[in-house]
Amino acid sequence: MSEPVNTFEAQQQGRPTGPLVQGYEVIIGFETHSQLSTESKIFSRASTAFGAEPNTQACAVDLALPGTLPVMNKGAVERAIKLGLALGSTIAPRSVFARKNYFYPDLPKGYQISQFEIPVVQGGSVSFFLGEEQKTVRLVRAHLEEDAGKSLHENFIGQSGIDLNRAGTPLLEIVTEPDMRSTAEAVAYARELHKIVTWIGICDGNMQEGSFRCDANVSVRKPGQPLGTRREIKNLNSFKFMQQAIDYEIRWQIEEIEDGRAIQQATVLFNPDTGETRAMRTKEDAADYRYFPDPDLPPLAIAPEWVERVRAEMPELPRAMAERYVTTHGLSAYDADQLTQSLALAHYFDAAVAAGAAPKLASNWITGEIARRLNAQDLAIDQAPVTSAQLARLVVRIGDETISNNAARQVFDALWTGDGDDVDAVIEAKGLKQMRDTGALEAIVDGVLATNQKNIDEYRAGKDKAFNALVGQVMKASQGKANPAQVNALLKAKLG
Ligand code: ADP
Ligand code: MG
Repeated sequence: MSEPVNTFEAQQQGRPTGPLVQGYEVIIGFETHSQLSTESKIFSRASTAFGAEPNTQACAVDLALPGTLPVMNKGAVERAIKLGLALGSTIAPRSVFARKNYFYPDLPKGYQISQFEIPVVQGGSVSFFLGEEQKTVRLVRAHLEEDAGKSLHENFIGQSGIDLNRAGTPLLEIVTEPDMRSTAEAVAYARELHKIVTWIGICDGNMQEGSFRCDANVSVRKPGQPLGTRREIKNLNSFKFMQQAIDYEIRWQIEEIEDGRAIQQATVLFNPDTGETRAMRTKEDAADYRYFPDPDLPPLAIAPEWVERVRAEMPELPRAMAERYVTTHGLSAYDADQLTQSLALAHYFDAAVAAGAAPKLASNWITGEIARRLNAQDLAIDQAPVTSAQLARLVVRIGDETISNNAARQVFDALWTGDGDDVDAVIEAKGLKQMRDTGALEAIVDGVLATNQKNIDEYRAGKDKAFNALVGQVMKASQGKANPAQVNALLKAKLG
């Protein structure tokens, strides 16, 4: 018998070598289970709501009781189409559901309905920035499948329980080529994919609740060698754990090889308490699952008209939106990227601009002060106490020189802390208006010049510091309400 062709190996031909760790190249491929945000299960009408009493949301179809038949949830298919369109994949006009047979307590029916030979989404890629460098990770496929139940060990003394509520929850498993070459690249990929699935609204992205679970396949090799044996770290549900787990796994594998032991293909779990990965089971091969087409489900047919209908409803994607911010608003690529970290954030920015805010100023406030405060208080943008309309008003008042930047910060703080909600009213109440009356300003300038001969002499002798001191005096005398540019101009004129 000839050696089986490793398709992953073939796909890696000609790709540049990644950064080395102790002389080894790291190879990573991801499988991500993205829970689709449908209200009912993938093949039944049972609810998918999270957090219900155990075993109250699994119906006879989810358990494949005799006499029941699964019926495909159109919403789940539509979400798969959306992902395919977002990632430039081929949407298979005809795909097939298969039974993946295995025994596990949380799968009483004995098989999982998945897609095997012909998945609904084929090919495509995810592009993102790793620092300054643009990376592209190719997808092999994304297939629809049902989730299994859950074993509960925590709430029992010496016993385990099974909660089947999750059985039949729709998943899209998104599989990459082993294209990633470092932990940082893998985490950046996962973040980008997370951004996309939430952006297009196919998944709520809640990692704590298990809506977005990543399996990281990791291997190492000496440069130029064939792919090494991989170990698969299961169910990484936070970006922090993802990074820790992959880093640990890389070091562990290198140490094993350096000690003369061969890596065994295995499924491993990350323990956040110890920071270590530990083998759970040796890895089954596809053949062990005895896949066969599910006789209860016809092939999934997707007409081109359906794909076009979905395409027409697709939101603008983050990359396109960021490019638009650069070309139409003159933002830097970095700022545009920051503003498109989530759809909600981009909408906030858009709304502020639509309400009259200068884009560059609005962007500075959002990526600066607002981001800082949201971060400190662990809030999402839609929980921000300052609305986009309020931000717009504030930015307009800075732009028309009603208030200085300093005053704007005070107004912003008042809005954020609930000490007022109308920008103009706060400016009024706090007396923050810049002086517009040039006559009054001139009087102040004259007063300052009359009592600061030393600074005047120093300025005339060429000391810039002396001029700044005079500006400071005027600002102080005006209680911060003078317009610094105006003060500068007046002083320069008077000093000749
Ligand atoms: P399984 O379902 O058995 O995990 P799949 O073929 O569905 O296998 O997925 C394999 C995953 O492992 C893919 O994400 C692929 O990129 C990755 N992979 C394959 N070979 C390697 C390797 N040598 N090192 C790291 N990752 C690999
Ligand atoms: Mg797999």
